[in-house]
Amino acid sequence: MLTFSQIIGQEKAKGFLKKVLARDKTPHAYIFSGIYGIGKTSTAMALSMALNCLSPVNSDACGECRPCRQMKGGNFPDFISLLPDGQNIKIDQIRELNRQLSFAPVAGKYRVCVLHQSEAMTSEAANSFLKTLEEPPSGTIFILKASESLNLLPTIVSRCQRINFQPLPVQEITAWLVKERGLNEETAMILAKTSGGSLGLAIKMSENDFLDKRQKWLLSLINLPAMSGDEAFEMALEYATGKAKSAKNSSDGEETGVLDILGVWQNWYRDLLLVKDDCRTDLLINPDFQYDLKNTSKNYKMTNLIKAMMKIDQAQTDIIRMRNSKIVMEYTVICLRNLALDKIQTTS
Ligand SMILES: [Zn+2]
Repeated sequence: MLTFSQIIGQEKAKGFLKKVLARDKTPHAYIFSGIYGIGKTSTAMALSMALNCLSPVNSDACGECRPCRQMKGGNFPDFISLLPDGQNIKIDQIRELNRQLSFAPVAGKYRVCVLHQSEAMTSEAANSFLKTLEEPPSGTIFILKASESLNLLPTIVSRCQRINFQPLPVQEITAWLVKERGLNEETAMILAKTSGGSLGLAIKMSENDFLDKRQKWLLSLINLPAMSGDEAFEMALEYATGKAKSAKNSSDGEETGVLDILGVWQNWYRDLLLVKDDCRTDLLINPDFQYDLKNTSKNYKMTNLIKAMMKIDQAQTDIIRMRNSKIVMEYTVICLRNLALDKIQTTS
C-alpha cells in the first residue's frame, strides 16, 4: 500500500530495513513490536513492496511496476496476512499456512507473511510455527507483529530480527490530522495527545465522537465531589455496563469502553499533578480544560492525586485481567470520590 518514504515517522525501523535491503541479504523473520496504530502493518507492506519491486530506487519501491501496483491494490498474491481466529491463532491456521508456503511464490521473488497479534498464538500453534521458522521455506519472509516481543516464546524471539516501533510524536500526528482529515489544530492536538502516540487510535477517535465522550467523562469526574454516594454508584454502573463504546475495537486491541474511560481519567489526574506542580501548560494532555484543571487542583493534596492515579492503574489491570468491571468501577469511583472530598483545608 505504501512505500517507506510515505510512512510517518519510524525513521530508525525504516532505516534499518533499507540498509538490509541494500545488502540484498534479508533475515527471514522479523518481530515488529510496539503499540497499536504506529505503522507496523504499513511497514510490513512497504517491505514486501520494496522486496518485490522491479525497479527499486534507494532501496524503496517505485510504486509503479506490476508487483508494486498489485501491492497497492491489495491483490498481490504473495502477501499473506494471518489474523487470530476469535481470541487465538490456532494450530489449524499454522498448518494451513504451512500448506500454502509449500508452494513457491507466484508473483514475485519474495513472499511476505504477516502474523498479526502473534502473541495470540496458542502454545500448540507457537510450537508448530517454531518448526516453520527452523526450516523456513525459501523466499519467505515472516513478520510477527506484537505489542511486546516478551510475550512470545523465547525460542521464537531468538530466531527473529527484532524491530521496535516507537509511539509517534504529537506534532506529527497533529499535522497529519490537520492535513489529511481537515481537523482544526486544537482538536487534532488533543486527539494526538490522548492517543499516546498512536496515529491509528487518533484516527479512530476522530471518527467516533471521542471528544464528546471525553468531555462527558471528564465532567463526571469534575462533578464527583458534588455527587451523593448513590449518584456516584449510578455513574459507575452506567460506565461499567459498556454504554460507552470503545475507541479501539480493532484487530489489534480488545480493550473495552471502560478502559477508554479509565485512560481519560488517568490523563486527567496526570494533568492535575502537572498544574499543581506549575509545569509548562504545553505538556497538558487536556489543554482545553486548563481552567477546570487550575480550579480543581487547588483542592487536592498532592498525595491524593498520586493515590488516584494508582487506583486507576489498579482498575485498568483488574479489567484487563477480566475481573468484574461493575465491581471494579464501583470501587474505583468511590475511592476517587473519597480522595476528592479529602480537600486541603483553607483558612479563608
Ligand atoms: Zn515497483
